Amino acid sequence: MTTPLAVGRQIRHLRTAAGLTLEHLGAQVGAAPSQLSLIENGKREPRLGLLQAIAQALGVEVAALLSAEPPSRRDELEIALAEAQRGPLYRELGLPEVRTSRRLPLEVLEALVGLHGELARRASEASATPEEARRANTRLRNEMRAVDNHLPDVERAAAEVLEPVGYRGGPLTHRMVEAIVERLGFTLHHARDLPSSARSVTDLENRRIYLPPASIPGGHGLRSLALQAIAHRVLGHAQPATYLDFLRQRLEITYFAAACLMPERTAVELLSEAKKNRDLAIEDFRDAFGVTHESAAHRFTNLATSHLGIRCHFARVTRGGTLLKGYENDGVAFPQDVTGAIEGQTVCRHWTSRAVFDVDDLVGEFHCYTDTVTGTYWCSAQTGSGADGDFSITIGVPYVESRWFRGRETTNRSVSRCPDPTCCKQPDPRLARRWSDAAWPSAKVHTHIFGALPSGRFPGVDDAEVYAFLDAHAPRTPPPERAPQSAP
Ligand SMILES: [Zn+2]
Repeated sequence: MTTPLAVGRQIRHLRTAAGLTLEHLGAQVGAAPSQLSLIENGKREPRLGLLQAIAQALGVEVAALLSAEPPSRRDELEIALAEAQRGPLYRELGLPEVRTSRRLPLEVLEALVGLHGELARRASEASATPEEARRANTRLRNEMRAVDNHLPDVERAAAEVLEPVGYRGGPLTHRMVEAIVERLGFTLHHARDLPSSARSVTDLENRRIYLPPASIPGGHGLRSLALQAIAHRVLGHAQPATYLDFLRQRLEITYFAAACLMPERTAVELLSEAKKNRDLAIEDFRDAFGVTHESAAHRFTNLATSHLGIRCHFARVTRGGTLLKGYENDGVAFPQDVTGAIEGQTVCRHWTSRAVFDVDDLVGEFHCYTDTVTGTYWCSAQTGSGADGDFSITIGVPYVESRWFRGRETTNRSVSRCPDPTCCKQPDPRLARRWSDAAWPSAKVHTHIFGALPSGRFPGVDDAEVYAFLDAHAPRTPPPERAPQSAP
């Protein structure tokens, strides 16, 4: 796109090259010199007729005046500076506009344009659009899938910090975490007024790590937070240059914390023994290391393929069926959007991740075999609740691998035909006939940036759920027009 200033600079360049003053050119094209000056400075856009007259007077085609190529480096910089100063980023700063006169030294121009470019780059990074965020997430997930969710370098880094503090097995104590932090020259501090947007803050100068108050002793949350904070130093992270870098670093620090809390060597010993006894269970793994079910299940995916030769999948799903986090290298078909993102998609109603919410009196894990379009899987799910509502944590494996797990003898079976829309996404035809004209739901406002809206007749509302709800709650007396005639 050619801006008025770019056109003006072409005209000025060609005019001075032809040895014409503004007065000379003005006389030839029938325009006042002041008007031409405004045009040359990009303050006014010339009409096509005037542009043609100017081109003719300068002996060039109109196209040459509209050329995107600035006549000189100086013109290029002046155009870039004028555009940057006109943009919202610079205006927000409330700083004065620098006039691009010929007296402005070239190196000042270069420096200003360079700074504007960097300002724009940083601004675009800090606010990755939801779509960029989705693409970066997808790319990272594919990278991790390619390495079976296993990062040997991070495993090694974790083993190296554990060795000198005398870790021998079992849960990593808070005291050992403190010792790890101290050996790296840092101290832990609990602060009540931690910024609400930060999980921890590190003071690099005074080598202090600030964490939230230790309100619930014994939880693994604080150990994990301290390990994550120290992980940036241990893994030699620099300030992330892109959103993808940011995500990768976050993945690495979480991985590092998990590799400290469930160290590779002892975890693999325990899991291998359980596999040998055909008694693998996430709940045992969890209890052996004193971590949450989710941490244990996710950590299992780091070690399952690389050390036990078992392909698997992991999912964290809300009661409503939204996939919050997923990993697979066993071919299970997570629902995806057009960018390939799975976060925020709705998983099949017949998957164990959702079926587990319908189980009454669930003690421990729920086991189930599910036939899907990509094969039969054995899954084990556990429910929990957090600040953002109820969720389920599922670990699943292909049918043949179920033989290593406790719960393989389950008689629970389910069939998922998704992505066939008649599986669970479309309303029951009988209910649709009855309710499609009588249902008027009001959608919830979705605030989650990854939240994909279920598409139905009302955006954001699942028709099938609405119809089933109405059907269950409708008064049992038939509608008036179809009321049976009472006997005379
Ligand atoms: Zn389905």
